[in-house]
Amino acid sequence: MVEPTIFHSILSREVPASIVYEDDEVLAFKDIHPKAKTHLLFIPKHFVASIADVTPETAHIPGMLILKAQRFAQEQGIKGYRLTFHVGKGGGQEVMYLHLHFLSEEKLKAL
Ligand code: 5GP
Repeated sequence: MVEPTIFHSILSREVPASIVYEDDEVLAFKDIHPKAKTHLLFIPKHFVASIADVTPETAHIPGMLILKAQRFAQEQGIKGYRLTFHVGKGGGQEVMYLHLHFLSEEKLKAL
């Protein structure tokens, strides 16, 4: 049984978020407590709790998130950014729904 997280509620639109990108596989939205000028979170629509839970069946998901972030950055003209996965409580992961942090000191264009 999956314990629903705040990101499940953002995905189902029960909780509002500032969504910047969506397709069949991912949702990307602004982090509510930004740690850079641009701080986004990319989440897969297929639930995985953490990098620690990735299996051979779901191993494509982290790479897919990175590719979506890379394409999003290209479309936005953002040249420099940091991508981070926090893994487990000891790794700073607070929300147990796999997510890729995207941080940049470059601003988003109006979406
Ligand atoms: P973690 O520490 O789990 O890697 O990162 C979770 C991130 O989710 C944090 O940077 C936190 O600010 C962000 N966050 C937590 N709750 C919400 C929320 O309700 N809305 C949005 N947009 N971001 C959230």
